[in-house]
Amino acid sequence: MANTSGKLQELKNILAEVSDLERAAALLEWDQETYMPPGGVQSRSEQFSTLLRLAHVRFTSDAVGGLLDDLEDELGGRPYDSDEASLMRVTRRDYDQARRLPADLVSEAARAGSVAQPHWQKARKESNFSLFAPYLEKNVELNRRIADALGYQERPYDALLDRYEPGMKTADLEAIFEELKRAIVPLIADIARNADAIDDRVLHKGFDPDLQLAYAADLVKRLGYDMERGRQDLSTHPFSSAFGPGDARITTRVSRDFFNECLFGSIHESGHAMYNQGMGQDIDRTPLWGGASPGVHESQSRLWENLVGRSRPFWRHFFPSLRATFPEPLHGVDEEVFYRAVNRSYPSFIRVEADEVTYNMHVLLRFELENEMLEGTLKVKDLPEAWNSRVKSYLGLNVTNDREGALQDIHWSSVSFGIFPGYTIGNLVGAQLMEKARQDLPDLDSQVERGDFAPLLGWLRRSVHRHGRKFTPNELLERATGKPLTAAPWIAYVRQKFGALYALQKVPS
Ligand code: ZN
Repeated sequence: MANTSGKLQELKNILAEVSDLERAAALLEWDQETYMPPGGVQSRSEQFSTLLRLAHVRFTSDAVGGLLDDLEDELGGRPYDSDEASLMRVTRRDYDQARRLPADLVSEAARAGSVAQPHWQKARKESNFSLFAPYLEKNVELNRRIADALGYQERPYDALLDRYEPGMKTADLEAIFEELKRAIVPLIADIARNADAIDDRVLHKGFDPDLQLAYAADLVKRLGYDMERGRQDLSTHPFSSAFGPGDARITTRVSRDFFNECLFGSIHESGHAMYNQGMGQDIDRTPLWGGASPGVHESQSRLWENLVGRSRPFWRHFFPSLRATFPEPLHGVDEEVFYRAVNRSYPSFIRVEADEVTYNMHVLLRFELENEMLEGTLKVKDLPEAWNSRVKSYLGLNVTNDREGALQDIHWSSVSFGIFPGYTIGNLVGAQLMEKARQDLPDLDSQVERGDFAPLLGWLRRSVHRHGRKFTPNELLERATGKPLTAAPWIAYVRQKFGALYALQKVPS
């Protein structure tokens, strides 16, 4: 067709404008979390919603639909991984999804979230779930209406999950999560019996905050985070945010009395930012630019934070400079003691504070409860009881108040069921990628011990980063590792690592 290249250019121009609007909105959000004075809240929320509305209107226009119709037949037939075929496939998926949601449902859901938030805050402060229950009921209903509008074949959760983790099915995740539960619940109990094996008091000995920030900034540069295309600022809740391949930022926080917060938070966020820095220039300002899913994004942060940053070779390399930077708190401490301290595992009430072993249990619990509320088998008023009994059976803890239980984080005050499993998917994907990276880079441990992170970063760039959103999470994993998502590499990793740390008897696998 003579006109194909002209029409493709026309489509790309619109998509580039949409991307610019969304990135400008993201920059406003970054500013709000870092430098904006408190008085800016009202005008900022207006600016933010204006930009997102313009982006939405432009993207869901008939013009985009018409161009997709005209171009799909010809370009969609090109090789599956070509930029053109991928652009057609991913833009079509986003477009159909956005068009299926009526504009008033979208704004009702956004409004319900901002209405619910102060009630969640109050309920949490007073540790009184019943103050929040009516708002959660409303949010469950809105999640259900969104699932209905998007459509699904088997489970309503499928529709919501697909918005965040394209192609994943609720039943597949349930099977994977069951496998995790069978492996991890007994491991948690074994570790609890040997809890004395690790002493982490060194982490609380008082580390100068300015020195911590400088050390962390230098360390993430050594990992490969390019500061010419990034920066680090302070914020209450650490996050990373990207406005293009040339500008991927991270934020961090620092605590004098708890070493892990600044350093591991910085490594985590730089893992996200390095993913964004590695995405192809050729897919910039199109729907192909971005993380394959929240779960895949999280795999990059958790891989660097835990599989690299909490490994023995990593601390063999960094501990001497760490001790030179913090001679007082680290007086008399050697690298092995420090390595053990940063890997201490113990059940806790709050997900964001959880260690590698117990973390997924927090996610799993929420995935189960979201499903049950969505399908109506769990009434919102019965949520705290269901929450508490599951925390007891998965983590062995007695929840004594809603504040540490069902009200612990802001998450359910917005209408976003389906996003949470991404946290566990991230851990599993990270371990699955690392298993393959080790096969391809047999010297990985000695490279890390020498402080040479380029081979691993290069492997991740080739296997994951450069593709952006071209492939679904399972497609990406199949291409990188030969298999769809599986829990086996993560289970093997934690059994081996924590079995050794806690001197547990070998668990039959
Ligand atoms: Zn993250």
